[in-house]
Parts: sequence; C-alpha cells; structure tokens
Amino acid sequence: MQASPEQQSLILELQLIDNEIMQANTKLKSLPEIEQLLHIDKRITSANDELATVKAEFDQITLELRRGEVDVETVTDRIKKDEARLSSGNATPKELEQTQHEVQTLKKRQIALEEIELEIMIRNDAITARQNTLATDLASLEKLKAEINQRLTAATGEINSLVVTKKSAREILVSKIEKPLIDLYEKIRASGGGIGASALVGNKCNGCNLAINAVEVERIKTLPKDEVLRCEECRRILVRI
Ligand SMILES: [Zn+2]
Repeated sequence: MQASPEQQSLILELQLIDNEIMQANTKLKSLPEIEQLLHIDKRITSANDELATVKAEFDQITLELRRGEVDVETVTDRIKKDEARLSSGNATPKELEQTQHEVQTLKKRQIALEEIELEIMIRNDAITARQNTLATDLASLEKLKAEINQRLTAATGEINSLVVTKKSAREILVSKIEKPLIDLYEKIRASGGGIGASALVGNKCNGCNLAINAVEVERIKTLPKDEVLRCEECRRILVRI
C-alpha cells in the first residue's frame, strides 16, 4: 500500500489519540471509588443485618419487660388485698395465720420478680446502646458513601468530557486520512490490542518493542517514503519518523 509520509504521520497521530481514549476508558473502570463503594456497601449490608437482629432482640426484651411488670403488679395487688384483710380484723385466727403466710410467700415472689425485671432492664439498656451505636455507624457509612459517590461522579464526568474532546479530535483527524489507510489501521487495531500503527524508532518497532533485523532495516532504507511498511513481528503499520 502507498500513502504519503504526511498521511502516515497522521495515522501515528491518530494512534496517540486512540491511546489516550483507551487509557481514559481503563481509568474509568479502575477508579478507586468503585472499589471503595463496593467495600462500603458490604459494610452497610452487614450493619443493617446486625441492626435487624438487634431490633428483633429489642422487641423480645420489651415484651419480656411488659410481662415482668404485669407479674410484679399482680403480686403487689394480692399483697395489698391480703394486708387490707389482715388490718380489717374480720378474719378468724386460722384465716389470719393463712393470710400472713401467704403475704410472706408473695413478698418473696415479689423480690424474685423484681430481680428478674431488673435483669431484663439491664439487658434492655445494653441492647438499646448497641442499637444506637449501629444507627450512628450506619449514618456515618451512608454519609461516607454519598461523599464517595460525589467523588466518583466528578471523576467520571472529568474523564468522560476528556473522551468527548478526544473523540471529536479523532473525527477531524480521520476525515483527513485516506480511506484504505484508515481501513487497514482499524483492522489491525481491532486485532492488535487497540494498536494499529507504531513508529519505527532506530531499528525498533515501538508497537511490539522488537528490533528489526539488519537485513530488513537495509531493505526498508531502499523503499520509497510512501510505501506503507508493516512490522514483520506484530504486523502493525510501521511509520518511519
Ligand atoms: Zn512490531
């Protein structure tokens, strides 16, 4: 294929733009914020899971606490009634003895129930504290997530606008290059990891970084400048600079 040295240098220029677009796209996919968001989402999920467990436990304790209060109330009421009967003086001595005995038993039961209630209240305090800590943690995580999202949006926007600029520069450049040369470049680029053209620097192809053998170097020197060269190793368009 033939193409003027100017055309060939345009194809190298195009390669530089394409490299920048490729680098920008790679950067877009590997922004640290993406990894940070995945990590923070995992932490939010696990905090939410723990919060759900803690809430269920809290509900259970609330229920136990209510039952405990009812139990204490019931016993307290019975003690009051018994004591009222004792002070009324209407009971027979046998009834008095029975009632006094019952009051003693009820008072023991009252103390036991109050101890249980106290133990439930301690558990209630602990679970409430854990619930508050988790809620605070979650709020900070959500805040952090919003900040990271904001940074991600900014970084993505910056890269995307760079890509847009590069793409419009590319379009202008492409319009200046002859079709057969562009077609060849695109074909090689598609199968060559995004690189379709490389410069011949000294005796090296900077596409594959391999040295061109002395015989080929000598042959190249005899070729007219508008002969489009291909690297023997990587098959890319080799541009003499
Ligand atoms: Zn090469």
